[in-house]
Amino acid sequence: MKNVMPTYGRIDLSFERGEGPWLYTKDNKRFLDFATGIAVNTLGHSNKDLIDTLSIQSKKLWHTSNLYNIQPQEELAELICKNSFGESVFFCNSGAESLEGTIKLCRKFHFNNGNKNKTDILVCSSAFHGRTLGTLAAGDNEKHREGFGVNTNGFIRVPFGDINEIKKFINKNTAAILVEPIQGEGGINRSPKGFLRELRKICSESKILLALDEVQTGIGRTGKLFAHQWSEIKPDVMALAKGLGGGFPIGAVVATNEAASGMSPGTHGSTFGGNFLASSVAKSVISQVIREGFLDNVTKMGNKLLKEIDLLAIKYSKQIKGVRGKGLMIGISCNMNNLDLCTNLRKNGLLSVPAGNNVLRLLPPLNINNEHADKCIEILNQTLSNIKVK
Ligand SMILES: *Cc1c(COP(=O)(O)O)cnc(C)c1O
Repeated sequence: MKNVMPTYGRIDLSFERGEGPWLYTKDNKRFLDFATGIAVNTLGHSNKDLIDTLSIQSKKLWHTSNLYNIQPQEELAELICKNSFGESVFFCNSGAESLEGTIKLCRKFHFNNGNKNKTDILVCSSAFHGRTLGTLAAGDNEKHREGFGVNTNGFIRVPFGDINEIKKFINKNTAAILVEPIQGEGGINRSPKGFLRELRKICSESKILLALDEVQTGIGRTGKLFAHQWSEIKPDVMALAKGLGGGFPIGAVVATNEAASGMSPGTHGSTFGGNFLASSVAKSVISQVIREGFLDNVTKMGNKLLKEIDLLAIKYSKQIKGVRGKGLMIGISCNMNNLDLCTNLRKNGLLSVPAGNNVLRLLPPLNINNEHADKCIEILNQTLSNIKVK
């Protein structure tokens, strides 16, 4: 990779093909993929419907432009809105872009209503929203910002999950509050029960927008199509990406018509956003995720893994502290170094992803079965038993 800019500390490992939750190297070594390119391969690898959808569309038309109507994009938007609070969708190509669109929408909403000073976005401790200049300002990682001259004006840091503290930061300049229903990169941090409901109430009372970053939690990851649906609330706007395309790059800003009222022609754009290929594939992903029984499997597999890893945490209490999460968004809180555990698991054929707070994430495909979950537990057990801790 000598000509690739070294922005990633890469592991010396590459894969040639994938099937379901399995990845294979050239020499046919098999890995159980509980990382899924960081919550991207919703349906695992080589999903038949996705392959069919992509190959059929690829023979018809790839890209025209958002200067014209794009039928699969229209159908995808309709499918998302039918299954959410949404009434209006903007398509882009990544998580960071969907957050940029979300932030722009929030500010424009107030501008459009004559409140030109309502530009501040409340953002949370330990938040991650992407690597563009705007989303670096919204995120809570000072190291990510270092040396890039990021202007954090317009973003006010508030403590994640602490409703009484958050209230104190709302003033006449507040446009919106932006939160991840469960923080992913921050370490699979769940908010206290009732947090989103309280936030919804406060936002409505203060006439500010509730913006959710569901880039990682969305598209079935937690056992509902969108994580906020567990709280039975409706945000004003939500950002999607990662799992939406099942491996094909696509992001989306989903909003109510009212919240999107400032987004008139010319206010925002994306050359590639929601093109024929991306929209067709994403439509197929969502169609499969909303099929009868699919999300129940996410909850069932998630509960099984949580329960069994809980037992491992008792057995190997020197190595791991506990486990948390929802559905198939699982974080193992480590006593040993999380990166070391990740490396050891990989040596034994299980892929996982480190997160903040010394947590190791398991983000398997959503269509795994008992056998895959058992294999994961077997590798965890075997690995933990071989790690000597003082
Ligand atoms: C990954 C992620 C992003 C950024 O997505 P990119 O596609 O890498 O730009 C934003 N928010 C959350 C919650 C994420 O997990």
